[in-house]
Amino acid sequence: MDDNMNHKDDDYEKYCYLCRRPESQVGKLIYMPNNINICQDCMQKTFDSFAGGGMQFIDLSNMPNLNMNQFTPVNDIPKNQKVKKKKAEEKKQKEPELTLSSIPAPHEMKEKLDEYVIGQEKAKKVISVAVYNHYKRVLTNTMDDIEIEKSNMLMVGPTGSGKTYLVKTIARILNVPLAITDATTLTEAGYIGDDVESVLSKLLAAADNDVEKAERGIVFIDEIDKIAKKRNTNSRDVSGEAVQQGLLKILEGAEVEVPVGAGSKNAMVPLATINTRNILFICGGAFPDLEDIIKSRLNKQSSIGFKADLKDKYDKETDILQKVTMEDLREFGMIPEFLGRLPILFTLQSLDEDMLVQILKEPKNAILKQYQKLLSLDGVDLQFDDSAFHAIAKRAMEQKTGARALRAIIEEFMLDIMYQIPRDDNIGRVTITSDYIDGKGLPLIEMRGVLALEENS
Ligand code: ADP
Repeated sequence: MDDNMNHKDDDYEKYCYLCRRPESQVGKLIYMPNNINICQDCMQKTFDSFAGGGMQFIDLSNMPNLNMNQFTPVNDIPKNQKVKKKKAEEKKQKEPELTLSSIPAPHEMKEKLDEYVIGQEKAKKVISVAVYNHYKRVLTNTMDDIEIEKSNMLMVGPTGSGKTYLVKTIARILNVPLAITDATTLTEAGYIGDDVESVLSKLLAAADNDVEKAERGIVFIDEIDKIAKKRNTNSRDVSGEAVQQGLLKILEGAEVEVPVGAGSKNAMVPLATINTRNILFICGGAFPDLEDIIKSRLNKQSSIGFKADLKDKYDKETDILQKVTMEDLREFGMIPEFLGRLPILFTLQSLDEDMLVQILKEPKNAILKQYQKLLSLDGVDLQFDDSAFHAIAKRAMEQKTGARALRAIIEEFMLDIMYQIPRDDNIGRVTITSDYIDGKGLPLIEMRGVLALEENS
């Protein structure tokens, strides 16, 4: 057992008991009993202080980085604050992780996405191609001579249309670490809140503190529209713009020191250096009012010159978001440098009632399949009739939060069913109808005995 633990510990950096610097930085540590390791520097200082008339405890404060107020033995640092050692070369080859031959081709990637994400055909295509190119660039490492542009992406789409879900699914397909963060929590360095490096800290945590793995990960920054410059105001609000500025360097590729296992840097948190060159950044936002900006641009274009058209030609068009350009986003308040680092721009459609019905039934992990599975463990067959699906979807549409509303609605009316059904062993089948969803009736309950009779007849 002990052996086992030691072996596990071998994957993590060891730290000097006194100055807390990692072995990779200070060189070979001197191992002492009780799991205490000391670096050569500190050892020398200790000897020096002995030589100079005995050990003076006060001399300890001259040790580099030692903070006497928080004297916890280094070996007590929790696992989540230790950095995993970079792997030796030969070990790397055994890893069953993403390799050049195992990256799914764009069409395969899209097929896998289709199993989970309903609709959004264009978005799935764009993301499959971009991700494929990105990882090809990362894994071959030879493309640098041709300077293939980094495939960072900007996704525009209403709430609950599947932005986060799309990214999560991609990360799972590729088996790369993913960090999701919200742009509204980011602040300029030095202000209360997370500074932009916290994003990388999360990614490192998602990669089990393995720096190499994190450097191939994906970062999703949601609500990116919230850090737009304020438009049409006289107030000098520059905070959003400053966060955009702050993100520039990590989007492009930089060496960034990030705290390990904690949100912020402080004296006692070990730091790791992450190179963001190969990290894929995907930003997403709902960009409210963007439609108006696009419409007014299109109307302006079409009402000038020979091809002059009706002034309000585009006012009634749906899915106007598909026509978004970088220029519109600049108008919205994103700074050009920021947009320049997100070369791939695409939109997600808002979901209509039929798509919501599909989301209920079709994805591999559809909510209803989950409930069916749960009830089948009790030997109960759960069914929905078509009208029930549409009743749920209609209700979700009213909430205007896209597919996000579905789960809450289902959970609400499934609660009674999940509570009552296991009570009665005789129940064989439950069918949910639209009347039940609308509160006008009860679900159809069929007893085991009756079902068995039907089957036999
Ligand atoms: P947002 O666009 O606001 O990031 P999310 O991706 O968080 O929306 O969507 C919320 C939930 O709704 C997801 O967890 C997923 O279960 C479901 N969902 C949204 N869009 C789709 C879709 N196109 N296909 C399947 N499920 C979806």
